[in-house]
Amino acid sequence: MTAASPAIPAAPAAKPSLAGSTRAELDAALAGLGVPAGARKMRTEQLWGWLYRRGATGFGDMLNLGRDLRGALGETFTLDRPQIVAEQVSADGTRKWLLRLAPTGPLDKGAEVECVYIPESDRGTLCVSSQVGCTLNCSFCHTGTQKLVRNLTSREIVAQVLVARDRLGDFPGSERPTDGLVPSGEGVRAVSNVVFMGMGEPLYNYDSVRDALSVLTDGDGLALSRRRVTVSTSGVVPAMGPLGAETGASLAVSLHATRDALRDQLVPLNRRHPIKELLDACRAYPGASNARRITFEYVMLKGVNDSIAEARELVRLLAGVPAKINLIPFNPWPGTAYECSDWETIEAFSDVVFRAGYASPVRTPRGRDILAACGQLKSETEKMRARARMMLEESLAAGQD
Ligand code: SAH
Ligand code: SF4
Repeated sequence: MTAASPAIPAAPAAKPSLAGSTRAELDAALAGLGVPAGARKMRTEQLWGWLYRRGATGFGDMLNLGRDLRGALGETFTLDRPQIVAEQVSADGTRKWLLRLAPTGPLDKGAEVECVYIPESDRGTLCVSSQVGCTLNCSFCHTGTQKLVRNLTSREIVAQVLVARDRLGDFPGSERPTDGLVPSGEGVRAVSNVVFMGMGEPLYNYDSVRDALSVLTDGDGLALSRRRVTVSTSGVVPAMGPLGAETGASLAVSLHATRDALRDQLVPLNRRHPIKELLDACRAYPGASNARRITFEYVMLKGVNDSIAEARELVRLLAGVPAKINLIPFNPWPGTAYECSDWETIEAFSDVVFRAGYASPVRTPRGRDILAACGQLKSETEKMRARARMMLEESLAAGQD
């Protein structure tokens, strides 16, 4: 007979974190503490500056808020970020973090997401996740085989950027790490670009992504340039216009095929929003111009979508759309039926695209050394590892403005 397990005591309710909050969320938090409406605008601006210009991780230094309010904030809230469970640094400076999000309830241990940072001499690109898992089932994508655990909140999306800026010494008064390349110099940001190419379909979590973008691009805070923030979509056509109009973010579109019959198989959302509808939405994308092109992602799948005829068709399809083309070597994962195209095939495909006037359509992979070792991360599943490889290449392939 086995002994009955003792009752599990309920976990003490953790204090919620305000890190990553929008102005409206800060206002609501202050209202909850009894700060009168007339004082809240100023208090919100003060908190905003501490959170996003200074990178504050606690309320203790916020002398301009007054002792009582500081005390009340500290009793009720934290400024905790997701925890870095593991970090890997590549010889080329690429970093990969496994982040554990705060539990959402007593039975939740805290979902994990990965975030990848790719430095270059004059910029640094952070690849963030918008969902844990994905409800779409693109046949070549490992995340697509994972059921959606949940949408990330806008706070959790912004917090990925805060974690990176903390770790990279990107807030005033902190030091750049010395264990790898991080761009430096007067006024140079460690994190200058953000791409939504991690886990999830950002436009299926539209409100959170929009709110996160409003925090990331706010000139009085994190102050990322809108054109340096890129949202990648598999083609959620109805949300594309609102994204451009409401956020001004740059757009990347996962095209991957030039015919509907093939795209229906690779990106099943194509059955609802076929190629013509998708490209019409791209032509109408607010703010798209030759100076501000839409990135088209095209994953190179051996014998599936990599013929010269398809390269020509791709160029023909995109005529008249202000476009950049990124050819992505397929990252295989355990159990996939697809293979990456041969290098010669990728070169021949890329030559056609290049001759049509698109610069550097294929990017050199970075951070291979840490990816080879990424099984050492405490990722729950193989999917996370395959995903991390994919994220890295994707991040290189876009966000290059
Ligand atoms: N859901 C969004 C954004 C996240 S996926 C989207 O689909 O656009 C980011 C990019 O990675 C997409 O272009 C996606 O098609 C690509 N991708 C997914 N799995 C991949 C793999 N195994 N190898 C290479 N690229 C992959
Ligand atoms: Fe989801 Fe994008 Fe993967 Fe498709 S490619 S399953 S939309 S994460």
